[in-house]
Formats: sequence, structure tokens, C-alpha cells
Amino acid sequence: MPSLQGKIGLVTGAGSGIGREVALLMARDGANVVVADVADDHGIETVKMIQRTGGGAAFVHADVSDPAQVEAMVKFAVDTYGGLHLAVNNAGIGGPAALMGDYPVDGWDKVIGINLTGVFLCLRAELSVIAAGGGGSIVNISSILGFVGFGQSCAYVAAKHGVIGLTQNAALEYADKNVRVNSIHPGFIDTPLVAAGGIEKGGDLWDFIASKHAMNRWGTAAEVATPVVWLLSDEASFVTGSQYVVDGGYLAQ
Ligand code: NAP
Repeated sequence: MPSLQGKIGLVTGAGSGIGREVALLMARDGANVVVADVADDHGIETVKMIQRTGGGAAFVHADVSDPAQVEAMVKFAVDTYGGLHLAVNNAGIGGPAALMGDYPVDGWDKVIGINLTGVFLCLRAELSVIAAGGGGSIVNISSILGFVGFGQSCAYVAAKHGVIGLTQNAALEYADKNVRVNSIHPGFIDTPLVAAGGIEKGGDLWDFIASKHAMNRWGTAAEVATPVVWLLSDEASFVTGSQYVVDGGYLAQ
């Protein structure tokens, strides 16, 4: 089990799904965790879940598409716990489903604003603070759709491809400052984001998507959280600028 004892971390979008599981696992492994989300009630619930198990956590409201709120989120971590070593840039949305020729421009702007610009703003605020504290590790949550296309999802696909470039550039620029930066690329994971996209659990579309994975099933948020926490830990000390696929074999076929 990787140890995060004594580390201070933050997770965006930690009120739900993958972000919540990552926050819980980071706390279980000893980190103090800043839980950031736009959904205050859900974020506060994640904090309570961590505190019930004896871990340390604090909530901050932060919309990752807003530069001032992102700066305030990182300042909150420093003010609350005295620094920052670890960050998981996870917050994201699915966005509209439409062919590119019909894709709404406001939908494009919103998805890019959260899923791509949001990751940039978080990296921008986190990197120098983590470097100033002696170094650490950042994980950006991309997707299998950072490597391949998916119908009626051009903004999501473009943003998730862009996260690879941001990750590689940050890794190059901060390697000599002892900050590692990697991306995780989940396949389809059973979270509230999927329900919000209108995919009914157990329905025909659910089963079709399951069949696109070699393992013929959807993944769980916990199955994504484990490799994220490994990348955060010192066990991954020679890993930076890399893309880790966690997809039940989606990209293998
Ligand atoms: P989720 O269950 O919907 O959780 C995402 C959380 O982020 C929610 O609490 C959401 O709040 C919050 N959020 C939305 N916009 C935000 C913003 N502007 N600033 C801060 N927080 C914001 O989603 P998930 O499935 O865990 O997804 C987490 C990440 O994994 C996303 O980047 C997603 O693209 C990626 N991913 C997911 C899958 C999948 O199949 N689930 C696959 C590959 C990659 P609201 O609920 O209020 O929107």
C-alpha cells in the first residue's frame, strides 16, 4: 500500500464519482485532503466520510473554470494545512451530445472551460506552490477519449486530448523542480456523470458500451482511484509525463 503519510493533497470534483474515491483513498493512506467542488453539499459529505474514518479533510468551493476560485483553492490548502504536495485535477463534465456540424458553441465553450482550461488553471496555480514546498506529484484525469474519438462528443474528446499535452508540458517544465505530472485515462466508469449523460444503467446503451471493453463491463471509481494514488506516491518516483490507461481493455480492441 503506497503511503501518503504527512502529505497535503487536493482533489477537484471530489464531491462525487472518481474524485470522491480518490479523496477517500488518499486520506486512508495518510494524506490531509482538500476536497474541492462546485457541489457544496456533496463535497462536504466527502469530508464527513473521511473524518468518520479518522482522516483529515477540509472542503473548499471551487469552480475550476474560474481563475480566481482556483487561486483561492490552492491558497486554502496552504492556509489550512501549511503547504501542498499532491493534486488530482479531476473535475469534469460530459457536455452536450451532438454531431460536430450541430454542436452548440456555448456547449463547446463550457466543456473546454471546465475540462481543458480548468486543468490548465489548476496546474498553473498548483505547480509553483508544490515546487516551492520541495516537490510532489500531480495527476490529471483525462479519458480513453484522450486517445480516440467518440460520436457526438467533440468538445469532450478535444479537451481530453488536450489534457495529454498539458500533462507532458508540465512534466517537462517541472521535472527539475521535483514535481511529477501524469495523466490517467479511464474507460467508461459507473459514476453520476454517466447518469447525467442519460445512459440508463443496465439498458441497451449501457450494455453496448460495456461490450466495447475487452472485460465486457463498466469500471468502478475505486478501480481508477488505486492507480491515481500510486502515481501520487513515492513508489512512482521515476514516472512523469506518462499516460496510464485504466479501461478494461477498451483501447486494446
Ligand atoms: P462526476 O461523478 O459527475 O463527478 C464530477 C464532480 O465534479 C461533480 O461533483 C461535479 O459537480 C464536479 N464539477 C463539475 N463541474 C465542476 C467545476 N467547474 N469545478 C469543480 N467541480 C466541478 O464525474 P466522474 O465520472 O467522477 O468524472 C470525474 C472525471 O473523470 C472527469 O474529468 C471525467 O471526464 C473523467 N472521466 C470519467 C469517466 C466516466 O465514465 N465516468 C470516464 C473517463 C474519464 P456537479 O455534480 O454539480 O456537476
